[in-house]
Amino acid sequence: MRASCATIHLGALRENLRRVRELAPGRKVMAIVKADGYGHGLERVARALEGADGFGVACIADGQRLRAAGVSQRIVVLSGIDEPADLSEMRRLNLESVIHHPTQLEWLAADHDPRPLRVWLKVDSGMHRLGFAQARVREVHARLRELPSVHRDIGLMTHFANSDVFDDPLTMHQIDGFEAATSGLAGERALANSAGVLGWPEAHGDWVRAGGALYGISVVEGRVGADFGFRPAMTLSSRLVAINQLARGDRIGYAATWECPEDMAVGVVAIGYGDGYPRSAASGTPVLLDGRPAPVVGRVSMDLVTIDLRAHPQARIGDTVVLWGRGLPVEEVAACAGTIGYDLTCGVTRRVRFTEEAA
Ligand SMILES: *Cc1c(COP(=O)(O)O)cnc(C)c1O
Repeated sequence: MRASCATIHLGALRENLRRVRELAPGRKVMAIVKADGYGHGLERVARALEGADGFGVACIADGQRLRAAGVSQRIVVLSGIDEPADLSEMRRLNLESVIHHPTQLEWLAADHDPRPLRVWLKVDSGMHRLGFAQARVREVHARLRELPSVHRDIGLMTHFANSDVFDDPLTMHQIDGFEAATSGLAGERALANSAGVLGWPEAHGDWVRAGGALYGISVVEGRVGADFGFRPAMTLSSRLVAINQLARGDRIGYAATWECPEDMAVGVVAIGYGDGYPRSAASGTPVLLDGRPAPVVGRVSMDLVTIDLRAHPQARIGDTVVLWGRGLPVEEVAACAGTIGYDLTCGVTRRVRFTEEAA
């Protein structure tokens, strides 16, 4: 059996949802579960987060999976319909569509299905990715209101570009712009992502759309989820499969990038970029062995990683090695690999064995 294993901490997911509710009291929580629940497993995450008021997914296929798993809460497809044929499937599954582009509006207008579809009007308040320009919002809202194929309760949403920098005026500018563009319009408001929940209480609206925080991950630079009261929901581990006694001057791995400064023991761990451990993790990236850090030395390869065992004379073949999770925040590993924690949890590959833990 492959030694690489991702343990999903169901209790941490539940606890993190409770923490989001504590930070955004009285607001509804849309648990964002795109990218297979940020790599934690869509159905498993939805089960653990059954207390959420709704779920946000990237595409209809994820909505299909959630309904097949028995999820009865509201489900919002964040990029909405990709083609007119999506409309009937959305209605069949009672999914809600974000409407962010005039093309989608035309598809809706041409659709005469009598079952009203719930939609969320996406406002571009400064992210400049998806959404209608603020100046068009009233006209689009009025148009949606008069379409019989659209449910009367139209949600209003926007997305922040830099809310993880708690003093960036851009976010305040986005909040003000969204308010101005939507003032007086009927409908529930949803502005905040996880960083919005943490740093921008004025943007909590009716719904918060929390992703990373639910998985215990921070996007705030230099901070980890635990700093905000969140617990990691994934621990990625593997085992030591070899211990080599090397001599001073021996060089390790592809391209021979790391040279032993003295005679020393080097451990080989059965995990690599084929499992989703980042190839970009530099020498010095920590792993945990027996609860204490050991640095990666040399290049990460497809199936294996080499680590410095000088501080671990007691290490034995078969010992468990934690790559990230409990005891080693994924944000720290991500920083050593030039990326963010989300990228690592989303990137765990199918050959990794997934297990669940109640705690
Ligand atoms: C991914 C996403 C979120 C969640 O963002 P986090 O930073 O993970 O909380 C919220 N809203 C939209 C539209 C998203 O795409």
